[in-house]
Amino acid sequence: MLKPIKYYSTNLKAGEVLFRDALLKGLAPDGGLYMPHEIPVIPKEEFFSFSKCTYDEIAYEVTRRFLHTEIPDADLRNIVRDAYDFQVPLEKVFDRKYLMRLDQGPTASFKDFAARMMGRLMQFFLQQENRKMLILTATSGDTGSAIANAFYGLDNIKVVVLFPEKEVTDRQRKQMTTLHKNIQIIALDGKFDDCQALVKQAFSDPELDYLQLSSANSINIGRLLPQSVYYVYAFAKLNNGSENDNVVFSVPSGNFGNLMGGLIAMKTGLPVKRFVVSTNENDEVPVYWKTGMYQTIVPSLNCISSAMNVGHPSNMARIVALYGGVMDEKGNIVKEPALEKMRADMFAVAIDDSHTRETLSKVYAEYKLLLEPHGAVSWAGLMRDFEANSRDGAPEQLCISLETAHPAKFPEEIRSILGIEPELPDSLKDLDDKEENYDKIENDYPSFKNYLKDNYL
Ligand SMILES: *Cc1c(COP(=O)(O)O)cnc(C)c1O
Repeated sequence: MLKPIKYYSTNLKAGEVLFRDALLKGLAPDGGLYMPHEIPVIPKEEFFSFSKCTYDEIAYEVTRRFLHTEIPDADLRNIVRDAYDFQVPLEKVFDRKYLMRLDQGPTASFKDFAARMMGRLMQFFLQQENRKMLILTATSGDTGSAIANAFYGLDNIKVVVLFPEKEVTDRQRKQMTTLHKNIQIIALDGKFDDCQALVKQAFSDPELDYLQLSSANSINIGRLLPQSVYYVYAFAKLNNGSENDNVVFSVPSGNFGNLMGGLIAMKTGLPVKRFVVSTNENDEVPVYWKTGMYQTIVPSLNCISSAMNVGHPSNMARIVALYGGVMDEKGNIVKEPALEKMRADMFAVAIDDSHTRETLSKVYAEYKLLLEPHGAVSWAGLMRDFEANSRDGAPEQLCISLETAHPAKFPEEIRSILGIEPELPDSLKDLDDKEENYDKIENDYPSFKNYLKDNYL
């Protein structure tokens, strides 16, 4: 019998817990983020043997190594089969350079991958104990709709989503506000970072303990494991069969949950040559790589890749922890990580809005491929990597850029850059006919707290 994996807090002041507790709690009691104490190693030949597997079969194979002591195999199989019933297209751009479209889920965002699996994992554990829970989450646009859709209609779980009213598109808002039932949406007159701060404060408020709060945003470990799967999937499908083959991924990054999924995949043994960490003008991480000084950006800058407007990525503490360091919630480095190793594994680059627009337009003209702003940041980051690391650009090197949302979610930008109207995926087609319902609150903690107390007894 193998021992279960334990999860520790990045602040190192809370006890270790099982996956189940890390998932249901979200944040550790000391304010830190949960991290697996050890990451199971998958033998290299298995990554090649997955080449004929479907997405949900690979999801089962990868997550089973983390979860098999806590979830029976048959239940896990059902969970992944139910969560992953959509396509994961890998489109060739040129040579061995590909685009992975993570935009075919119900909310047309890569966040569906994490949210759908996390919702089902939570439901599994809550049902076992006959418990109920209130999920509190802050969103800069896409997380909220993915979480709301993933949890919609579940009996044991209610969801409250807080979003910055002026920073999300109409369509992003409608994807959340047209659901109703167990889903409550709140608009804040402020920024995403303000939303996140209010949610964090509610979690540490003992007067709200009775609500059984849990988080579902990128701080929850339950989102990271599922996000390691598509990295494995992409390599399994695109490797050239040679045991020396490896892959470069470009990841458009905001809160760095997506990247953390990739780093976990790499730690299981996936042959990743390098991650290109592509940010927008919120360049605190590329600057950190360059200077060794980490400085948050307050307030965060508004860029057209709006889901990446983050001035202090919540997963930064995890990345630092993975490289042997300690970072507190405010972004202070308590113990230095192995920065040289981080630089070797990850090429960090910031792309400004004008370069993002230029890239979107160029990729459409040259390859007839339609990107949206986040995917364009990712592709532009990969091109910068080719300039800095010319071997990555060689024809035989496998490189995969992640497209994290469907272009139809950003019609205003696409229209103004390309003058065309992106075609809607089925999931977004009938939003305009549905009734919206949401509340508004002031940007301060007492308003938020009172709202929760009045609405959830
Ligand atoms: C959330 C989001 C990102 C950023 O992902 P992180 O895990 O926060 O780094 C990128 N693109 C889109 C479309 C998103 O919704």
